[in-house]
Amino acid sequence: MLLSPVTLSVVTPMFNEREAVDHFVARLRPVLDALDEPYEVVAVDDGSSDATVSRLMQLRADWPQLRVVALRRNVGHQTALRAGLRASRGGYVVSIDADLQDPPEVIGEMLEAARREKVDVVYGVRSDRSTDTAFKRQTAGLYYRMMRRLVGPWVSDQAGDFRLMSRAVVDVLNELPEPRPVYRLIVPSLGFASAEVPYVRAERVAGETKYPLSKMIKLTIDSVTSFSAAPLKAATWLGLFSFFACVVLIAVALIRWLAGETVPGWTSLYLAVLLLGGIQLVCVGLLGEYIGRIYAASQGRPAFLVAFDTAALDVATIARP
Ligand code: UDP
Ligand code: MG
Repeated sequence: MLLSPVTLSVVTPMFNEREAVDHFVARLRPVLDALDEPYEVVAVDDGSSDATVSRLMQLRADWPQLRVVALRRNVGHQTALRAGLRASRGGYVVSIDADLQDPPEVIGEMLEAARREKVDVVYGVRSDRSTDTAFKRQTAGLYYRMMRRLVGPWVSDQAGDFRLMSRAVVDVLNELPEPRPVYRLIVPSLGFASAEVPYVRAERVAGETKYPLSKMIKLTIDSVTSFSAAPLKAATWLGLFSFFACVVLIAVALIRWLAGETVPGWTSLYLAVLLLGGIQLVCVGLLGEYIGRIYAASQGRPAFLVAFDTAALDVATIARP
């Protein structure tokens, strides 16, 4: 049974991690036990379709600090993380992936750094990503370069979602009303004092990545649209540029018509229609992304629903005589 107060919560979103979960628990537990602090592990099941939840429930039988928060359906990594942060009770909260790419041994260092340097955030910074595929490294490099430019220089290009946060930070995050928050950008933008702990990104212990290209693109669109109106401004400039180009081309066409020249062929016409149509569609789509966020925010629907949280079971057991 968990006895509050909990010093440390370890939050782990899991989506179809049946193959990784045993390895994860086997490596995480000794690390946390050695810290000699009251802790909880919040395993958030993000609507897995495999046996992740039932395996977690089995593991819980002899590890009472393992808490299972099961979501009703798959809502994606960042939203699952949000569910975990909401559920967490610790004075410090660490978010970590379930596939052991983030080494649990670093958690102790993070906690120590937070206390020693009296900071609210400790980032796990990847000093070596050679185990990631070249494609992952390239796309990640591009993503972080773009975000540094859009969000600000305080976004570290090697900090993902492996980090420790104090309760103060988590409380701020839990109050955010925005749909689909991208924590790796929001946390540095809040301005809390921070420290960094380097680590080597390991290979996924088992199973496959749950971040296919489509999810990476979604995360990028969310990242950009939640932090910057720059694409909208770019659309305005593009529109202005096209407009002036059109004015010039119209003048040229008129002059040639007045001079009695027939307009040659349809190629120029065809290209102009396609180009302008393309530009318009992209700009409308861009606008749509922002409106979509406003729409989602105005509906105010819950980003996730918790099917069950084993902490509630614990309380029920304690309450019984
Ligand atoms: N994850 C999740 N929901 C999803 C996709 C991923 O909770 O829809 C979890 C996944 O189980 C893992 C973490 O997010 O714990 C990071 O995912 P993954 O390791 O597949 O991403 P990668 O390291 O390949 O970027
Ligand atoms: Mg991974």
